[in-house]
Amino acid sequence: MDKGEDFVIANTLADLVEGMNNLTDKKLLQLKEIEKQIQARDREIENPFTKDLQITAIRGARKYLGDKLIRVAKPHKILDPKNGPLIAVKLNIISRKTLGGLQTDLSAKVLDSLGNPVPGLYAAGEVSGFGGGGVHGYRALEGTFLGGCLFSGRVAGRAIAAELK
Ligand SMILES: Cc1cc2nc3c(=O)[nH]c(=O)nc-3n(C[C@H](O)[C@H](O)[C@H](O)COP(=O)(O)OP(=O)(O)OC[C@H]3O[C@@H](n4cnc5c(N)ncnc54)[C@H](O)[C@@H]3O)c2cc1C
Repeated sequence: MDKGEDFVIANTLADLVEGMNNLTDKKLLQLKEIEKQIQARDREIENPFTKDLQITAIRGARKYLGDKLIRVAKPHKILDPKNGPLIAVKLNIISRKTLGGLQTDLSAKVLDSLGNPVPGLYAAGEVSGFGGGGVHGYRALEGTFLGGCLFSGRVAGRAIAAELK
């Protein structure tokens, strides 16, 4: 927070929004709109029967003791000054995981749009859908990508070696 150029720290929402708008060429954020959204969220955080999906998800996650113990902040009202200062972070969107793109057969040969192997072309790892998903089922679970990438690399390597024999 002290050194990051994408961080804005302020005591009031007006200052926070102004600080965020100063990080971009265009003033992308409207104070009234942001205020309305945070007030709506703060209203629901104290409602034990809320139907707000995000708050319901947070409460669900916090039922797991490990999460409850390591999270540093309990859910609280963002605009209550006693919980200040307000912190905003400018996000830079990147693609972290692709979950595939090339279809392969079980020997890592890339298939064309008709399902026929493209001669001499093999694929392994994330590009072939083996980073998450695939061997681990439909879901891409955190921490399960490298195993599938290595495994499919081994399969591709063996198939290429067999073809070159
Ligand atoms: C921040 C982050 C954290 C992660 N944490 C975990 C984790 O804890 N556990 C886990 O299992 N997985 C994790 N993953 C996922 C895992 O790291 C990736 O799924 C895995 O590394 C993909 O390996 P890969 O060899 O298939 O692809 P990559 O590692 O993406 O390799 C593809 C390579 O191709 C090169 N390339 C691209 N285009 C060209 C071109 N035209 N010509 C030549 N080269 C080219 C790229 O430069 C790159 O080196 C994480 C991923 C990220 C981004």
